Amino acid sequence: MKKYLSFALGFCLVTTTISAQKTLIHCGTLIDAVKNEAQSQMTIVVEGKKITAIQKGYATPTTNDKVVDLKSKTIMPGLTDMHVHLEQETSKGGEIKRYQLSQADIAFDAAKYAKTTLLAGFTGVRDLGGSGVNIALRNAINKGTVIGPRIFTSGRTIATTGGHGDPSNGLADKYTLDSHYLSGVVNGVDECRQAVRQRYKEGSDCIKITATGGVLSIAKSGKAPQFTEEEIRAIVETAKDYGYHVAAHAHGTEGIKRAVKGGVTTIEHGTFLDDEGIELMKKNGTYLVPTILAGKTVADSAKVPGYYHPLVVPKALETGPLIQATFGKAYKAGVKIAFGTDSGVSIHGYNAYEFQYMVEAGMPAMEVIKSATIVPAEIMGTQKESGSIEIGKLADIIATDGNPLQDITAMRKVSFVMKDGVIYKQ
Ligand SMILES: [Zn+2]
Repeated sequence: MKKYLSFALGFCLVTTTISAQKTLIHCGTLIDAVKNEAQSQMTIVVEGKKITAIQKGYATPTTNDKVVDLKSKTIMPGLTDMHVHLEQETSKGGEIKRYQLSQADIAFDAAKYAKTTLLAGFTGVRDLGGSGVNIALRNAINKGTVIGPRIFTSGRTIATTGGHGDPSNGLADKYTLDSHYLSGVVNGVDECRQAVRQRYKEGSDCIKITATGGVLSIAKSGKAPQFTEEEIRAIVETAKDYGYHVAAHAHGTEGIKRAVKGGVTTIEHGTFLDDEGIELMKKNGTYLVPTILAGKTVADSAKVPGYYHPLVVPKALETGPLIQATFGKAYKAGVKIAFGTDSGVSIHGYNAYEFQYMVEAGMPAMEVIKSATIVPAEIMGTQKESGSIEIGKLADIIATDGNPLQDITAMRKVSFVMKDGVIYKQ
């Protein structure tokens, strides 16, 4: 593209042309997340934030152009993890941190986790629940103050009293919170609607609910349903008014079905999904975000004495090991899948282990890569600007050492990261 510069010189108008700097990325192997096959020896042309051309062969640069030599690498769109918590990271006895850390402490930690995530190849994340720091973090990254992935966030989770995501679970009664839309703890249809509107006011991009008990909450049941179907429907309907989709954390069979019937877009974890639930998800076009990595992590950590609260240990041991098999069954039955790890429950930056677990459970590598690129863009409604390597899209591009179509563990060897046309790792 040429920029036309016009300037007045005395009485005559002089017009000249200069070439804007282009970056030519020479790609040994290219997975664009559109085609079902990789292409070899390709050039991606980046100008400013965008991809402006994709050519066969290694294009010759002009004097102004910059060349990035990735001839020995596999190039693909920047990855998106559809389930992370950038405000937190697992540690032994870590549940006490929520009573010790200030919002500023959380923010500094979150900035570190965001950078780690980007450098692991994730140019996008959907952050599903925190204290609201995740909204400020998104804004700071968009402004360029902090280095990290493009964040699409639910802000605070919406839970019911005592439910997974009630921030005062496990506290002495004098510290417990009343049901209130500000804290995200709601009961009844009206409060459900009010909480969605409050998330909109705070600047969320989507809505997260906890449709069943969860593993890491200081509460007995990891699978009991925790919203009525009517409450879920009220949340989904109100969310639609604001252009939001709803993500539902759900382990237990009944809670999964209520969430799917209530109209949520994604089921997170889905551990005890049964055949009827699978059919419902297929019928409604609901996505499963498996988070196998989280399951394996909690099952391992629960074996370390004192790592988790005593109420958490049996839930982690029961739930964690089941997720991979449930995912494999759901995928083979035809449920739509989106990549998500629940990182934060595991250490940030290890997100790419999920690819390996998904392939082990029977999903082909190319489909797994699409579940972390074009599929998230479809869910978030950003497919016009991201999710694949196509002309006109944002230059979110990564490269791995080795070809993940031959060895999926190559996804853990990300050696090049570009986001918005800016190189963060090379
Ligand atoms: Zn989560």
